[in-house]
Amino acid sequence: MKHRLFSLILIALIVFTVSAPNIFAGNFLDSLSLGLENEIGHISYQQIIKQKEVVQLPKDQETRVNQIFSQLVKNSHRHKEIDYSLAVVKDDTVNAFALPAGYIFLHTGLLAYAQSDGELAGVLAHEIAHVDRRHSMKTISRTIGMSALLELILNRSSKKRKEDISKVGLVAINLAQLGYSREAEYEADSYGVKFMQAAGYSKDEILNFWRRLEGQSGGGDSHAILQLFSTHPPTSERIKRIEAM
Ligand SMILES: [Zn+2]
Repeated sequence: MKHRLFSLILIALIVFTVSAPNIFAGNFLDSLSLGLENEIGHISYQQIIKQKEVVQLPKDQETRVNQIFSQLVKNSHRHKEIDYSLAVVKDDTVNAFALPAGYIFLHTGLLAYAQSDGELAGVLAHEIAHVDRRHSMKTISRTIGMSALLELILNRSSKKRKEDISKVGLVAINLAQLGYSREAEYEADSYGVKFMQAAGYSKDEILNFWRRLEGQSGGGDSHAILQLFSTHPPTSERIKRIEAM
């Protein structure tokens, strides 16, 4: 009973702070939802590794990829609260994706396609930026509604909860693999460029990557290459925006 009352007071407080347009509101809700983000991230991660084959890279390549990755993570904003991890999965398509709570996946097809450390850094930085900007959690909260989200955060004793988290995990997987809104993709491009530059890479590297993909999109081999990177924002528009940064 006491717990219930506490929850109600907390909900009232959150509704009040969320509806009040101040900076505190966002931060308060973000810190409350971190535990839930970890749960959703973990459950969707488990799903992915059941479906996909995780690849063990040769030692020198593994060291190189991990170094690039940790350098980028270090230069992102949430590195103290998120335990980022990187897994390479066997898939010939040129793609990478990120789940909530920092689980990043890289396809072997992308690893083969990237021509330099900087290109790889650019793609990984884009994925880290999706986690950094909480794109998944924001979209989930819009999809299921704020009150359902708060219920998941606050009412941890609910019997249905595990089932609900699994469902939300599937939403997170779909988002990660099919792409976010146009705005979220542009934001991830823009933050990704900041993170890669802070880690010592030039934005020219990611521009080269995009230009090469764009150049090949009309070719015969385009299907495998552009299958997932061809999400909402047109590549030409993304290139233009990164050039203008
Ligand atoms: Zn993206």
